[in-house]
Amino acid sequence: MKPSYIRVIIDRMIHRELDYSVPETLAARVGVGSRVRVPFRDKSALATVVATLEQSDVEAIRPIEAIVGDAPVISANLLELAKWMSAYYCCPLETVMRSLLPQVIRKAKIGWKKQLFVQPARKIDNKEVEKLKKRAPRQAELLETIAKLEAPMPAAQLLRKTSLDNQTLRALVKRGLVQLHEEAVERDPHGDEKFIETINLELNAEQAIALKQIADALEAPESAHPVLLHGVTGSGKTEIYLQAIRAAVEHERSAIVLVPEISLTPQTVERFKGRFAEAPGAVAVLHSHLSEGERHDEWQKINSGRARIVIGARSAVFAPLKNLGLIIVDEEHENTYKQEEAPRYHARDVAVVRAKIDKCAVVLGSATPSLESYHNAMTGKYKLATLTQRVDTRQMPLMRIVDLRQERRKEKAAAILSEKLRGAIADRLEKREQTILFLNRRGFSTSLLCSNCGEARDCPNCSVALTFHRHVARLSCHLCGHTAAVPKKCPACGKDALIFAGFGTEKVESTVAHLFPKAAVRRMDADSMTRKEAYRETLLSFRAGKIDILVGTQMIAKGLHFPNVTLVGIINADLALHLPDFRAGERTFQLLTQVAGRAGRGETPGEVFVQTYTPFSPSIQFARHHDFAGYFQQELEFRERCDFPPFKHAILITVRSTHEERAKFSAETLTRRLKEWLEPEFILSEATPAPLEKLQGQFRFHILLRGNAIMRLSRQVRETLDKLPFPEDVIVTVDVDPYQLL
Ligand code: ADP
Ligand code: ZN
Repeated sequence: MKPSYIRVIIDRMIHRELDYSVPETLAARVGVGSRVRVPFRDKSALATVVATLEQSDVEAIRPIEAIVGDAPVISANLLELAKWMSAYYCCPLETVMRSLLPQVIRKAKIGWKKQLFVQPARKIDNKEVEKLKKRAPRQAELLETIAKLEAPMPAAQLLRKTSLDNQTLRALVKRGLVQLHEEAVERDPHGDEKFIETINLELNAEQAIALKQIADALEAPESAHPVLLHGVTGSGKTEIYLQAIRAAVEHERSAIVLVPEISLTPQTVERFKGRFAEAPGAVAVLHSHLSEGERHDEWQKINSGRARIVIGARSAVFAPLKNLGLIIVDEEHENTYKQEEAPRYHARDVAVVRAKIDKCAVVLGSATPSLESYHNAMTGKYKLATLTQRVDTRQMPLMRIVDLRQERRKEKAAAILSEKLRGAIADRLEKREQTILFLNRRGFSTSLLCSNCGEARDCPNCSVALTFHRHVARLSCHLCGHTAAVPKKCPACGKDALIFAGFGTEKVESTVAHLFPKAAVRRMDADSMTRKEAYRETLLSFRAGKIDILVGTQMIAKGLHFPNVTLVGIINADLALHLPDFRAGERTFQLLTQVAGRAGRGETPGEVFVQTYTPFSPSIQFARHHDFAGYFQQELEFRERCDFPPFKHAILITVRSTHEERAKFSAETLTRRLKEWLEPEFILSEATPAPLEKLQGQFRFHILLRGNAIMRLSRQVRETLDKLPFPEDVIVTVDVDPYQLL
């Protein structure tokens, strides 16, 4: 039946669904998921159809104006997913839709790239060319080339090839000798690259068992549980993904592979494109570095069914694949799966829900699973597959803990590079092996203090100290980007007593370069990698052995394979530990384990030096012994005692404003209302200043809620917020399952 009425949500925030009628001429082409243009107030607006209706009780219903694009952009399943997200993450459906549909797809004009093609207007004989040669030699030259074309050629390409200009071409068109026409062409971000075909490797026993578990889930997805694939780095997880996808594709089903943005390296893409090289177009890649045009084309390729495999970062979980068979979430513990703006969703959790809706298999893989996923595996919600061995049965690296308290007693400089770590680096340089030094902090000095009055240079907009960057010789705030010149004297007391304190990667680099003047040292962090190609170039020269020591932030911590790296130094393991966050310990454990996974992937076994002031903290000790089970056990006990996830869900409400008093008052009022209106089973904290009290000029207050029935809690929070009027300059955000507690 053709719909005569439809229900839509429009792209603007009105928090309501609206009904429209559909003119008979358009009715056949409208369905759930279509994009339409509708009259709204006295303007028109773009909207997405969420339902078709036989009748509507809206009075004076207005007709839609037009249909946008040819095909529906969102399936009924994805719409269901969007509604779930809206309820779970306490977020308006319009906002969810904005994440679901890329901007370039929501636009009214469909953005295929058009290119001008050239061909002869008719048969051109030699005489005509000769005649033209006398009067217009360049035109003649171009005409000669065009006359010989076997197929129409893109104008730009032709002009490049002949080194002639557009004017010459236009002249030939004017003479009626040459024709131009426009054609849509598809951009392929990897179109220039060749991928070497690879075949399935023969799996070892553990891998075979894991693949069987996934294959079972592919066979009977309705009754299957998500599979948690816990395998140490280098245990062959990616090989299992590749074979599982192969199996899905052979069943005529499609697959999504999510990887954290930082692991979406050319290497990763190459591995997937290479395994499915028989149909290179079948693998689409979605990430944040695509141009709008590329994103449009990749998305259309997926929506039309030409691409069957999608590999991408967080938002690729919404890829509009039909007949989805398998979703893989690699490095499922990664924080980058959590979106830190509305909708504040976690792609792993959305993947699990999408798998349920689409009735497909889902695999979560990691060397260091999150407590949440591991707990789910323990309680039987997920199936656990474990790979305990590296594929080459190589040893796990030896972890050496360096107690910085003792080192410091020996000499002051030891805080950056202990004697032991220095010795190990010297040894590697001698053997021509490579070293990675890791520190999760950019810049040269992390604060500028006055030794007379004790005053630090803080950001005027945020409650953090400014970091000194030596290469630009300025102070800068890592939160808001504010920069300032380095004062000569202390602005507070006027004394010439300023000292730099704390250190970041820039200082590590310069210290290393100073200690080892002959070594090739390179730094890899957000400051040194501002050019798009810099990242790739640095990794290539590192792989080629042109760099001896690579210093970097989390950019180098994950997912990279370097056979010649035999030493990893963790400059300060305590950075994450002291954050006011219940996941601090978990993060430290994951980080140490992941960074350690970079060492000793080649012939020589690896060694890891962990520098710390708290050598006996559990995360460091368990990581040292590669003892996952032991770590999980004690961390789970701690979480249970404190009613933290995974035992209770959390919701973090942030109330912020440029007016401190108004933010505080609003937060306190909200807390009082929540106390009255929430069911008593939920745990409610008082409104407190956030650990990061001031950010980008705004004062921030936190309210933390916890409970088991997260959907109910979300709904009650939404209802409370809807009933409360907040002053205009007060912003309230709700983060369900928060990862940022600052
Ligand atoms: P992970 O994803 O767990 O880090 P990979 O899948 O990248 O592990 O495997 C590590 C290396 O071992 C890769 O070079 C891969 O090609 C190789 N490999 C994986 N499985 C096998 C296997 N069954 N036989 C031989 N080599 C394998
Ligand atoms: Zn700032």
